[in-house]
This record gives sequence, C-alpha cells and structure tokens, in this order.
Amino acid sequence: MIDEDPSEEDLDRFAGEIGYCPDCGAEVWDEAYQCPRCESVIEGRIGHAPVDRAASLLSAKTVIVLVALIVLVLVLMQIR
Ligand SMILES: [Zn+2]
Repeated sequence: MIDEDPSEEDLDRFAGEIGYCPDCGAEVWDEAYQCPRCESVIEGRIGHAPVDRAASLLSAKTVIVLVALIVLVLVLMQIR
C-alpha cells in the first residue's frame, strides 16, 4: 500500500510531540535537531507552548480583570 500523504493516524501519532522553535516560533517536532523554517539548531531548546503564549495568557488575565472591574462598577451603581 502506497500512501505518500500523512494520514490522520500519522498526525495522531505525533500529537503531543509538537514543539515550537524558540527562534521563529514555527511548529516543529519536539525532538527535531534543526528548525525546518529558520534552520537554527534547536535541539534541547524546543518549547512546548507557542512563543507568544505568555502574551496571550497576559491578555486573558487583563480581560478577566476588566470584566471584574465592570462588574464591580455595576454593583456599585446598583447600591446607589
Ligand atoms: Zn525556527
């Protein structure tokens, strides 16, 4: 059986082994020696979260704080 394209099964097999290049943020296999996109040696430096994850977590936190402030203001307006 000739199957040149990666099947869903192949993709599942690599699920959980995806890492991110610390230099360019490309998705790479987490045991890759070199990044296929920027070609820098990434062995042992591969992150398991997207490079911008900290920023998105921070913005999610900011949204929660803003919502909490809005709720607080609404509660204070109700008291008056
Ligand atoms: Zn890279």
